[in-house]
Amino acid sequence: MLQNLHLPQYYKSTLIEQIKSQAPNSARDQTPYTVQLGKLTFKLARHFGFCFGVQQALSLAYKTIAENKGKRVFLLSEIIHNPIIYDDLVKQGIKFLMDSKSNILIPFETLKPDDIVLIPAFGITLELRKHLQDLGIDILRYDTTCPFVQKVWNTVKKLGQTGYTIIIHGNPNHEETKATFSYAQAIAPTLILKNKNEALKLADFIKDRTELSKFNANFRHCSKNFDPQQDLIKIGLVQQTTMLTNETEEISEILKTALNQKNKAENIGEAIFADTKHTLCYATQANQLATKVLCQTSNADLAFIVGGYNSSNTKHLVELASQDLKTFFIKDSAEILNSKTIRHFDIQTSTIQETTDWLPTKSNLIIAISAGASCPDKALEEVMLKIQALAT
Ligand code: SF4
Repeated sequence: MLQNLHLPQYYKSTLIEQIKSQAPNSARDQTPYTVQLGKLTFKLARHFGFCFGVQQALSLAYKTIAENKGKRVFLLSEIIHNPIIYDDLVKQGIKFLMDSKSNILIPFETLKPDDIVLIPAFGITLELRKHLQDLGIDILRYDTTCPFVQKVWNTVKKLGQTGYTIIIHGNPNHEETKATFSYAQAIAPTLILKNKNEALKLADFIKDRTELSKFNANFRHCSKNFDPQQDLIKIGLVQQTTMLTNETEEISEILKTALNQKNKAENIGEAIFADTKHTLCYATQANQLATKVLCQTSNADLAFIVGGYNSSNTKHLVELASQDLKTFFIKDSAEILNSKTIRHFDIQTSTIQETTDWLPTKSNLIIAISAGASCPDKALEEVMLKIQALAT
């Protein structure tokens, strides 16, 4: 399925390829890789880095650039959330119509029908799709939307057609959730839940369906004319594919239990709560599980997660790693200023911070390391080599 990829060589890493070649046959084996570099021991998560959807999206982007010299090639917004890739695409001459917050950078009205507009891996809203088509842009040919995101949309469609209200576990400001919301609300009442806390509040409402003011105060991301008393009877839950899978499963249990209590039933089954486990992205699940196992079992002194600071899947890896180890979230090796100071992203405050004395001086140092689904192997290699150089 992933043959004939058009990915630049400079994203690849011989070191990471060698490490990955040690993988056992069983995909279920989560034992971290062990690599000795000088005095340092690195433990790498069993699953990390480019997922299927990212490889496919980047391949189409680079192929399109190579085959369309002289044409104007645009990306609707960031194809995936990684600054190394963003900068390289800019260098290749790609122009961005919007930033990742949907602010317009280039007015759509300046597009001409023979311009090429690449659709990012997260997909786009129905409204934007129509807008581009109305301008005569061929968006089907250059659509890099990941098939796993499309699977969520197909499920949303089926659920909506069979009378379910759609609940999306996602970040309302993320491009993918905006796109899924647009597909869902076109066919069914739809609501976005950001996290487990919101699910608990929604469950409380479902149990008696009386406190409308509380519902209105807590839930702002609903489709037009959402009627909380009528629209929370039959529910289908889907996920922004990069959210914490465990949290989605918890939310599913919370909502199912609330519906059971409301209906005074033991188990309501699919009649009013749809089972959508099949829509969870394999790469997100694998990377999250591998990072958890890495940080719980590697006996490491500290952890690194490498990836873009606006990358949803990478932030969730950081969240998981931080539960067990002191963790630095860095976008690339340039964030390691020297053996004293490191610059890194703090997911609690959403700010870039500097920490001093980050590198322990003890012997037999063990570093746990993983990378988000949008991080090139080369970036991970550079981080490992820089830490090794500073530790010796
Ligand atoms: S994380 Fe999953 S859904 Fe997202 S691009 Fe990768 S494979 Fe597709």
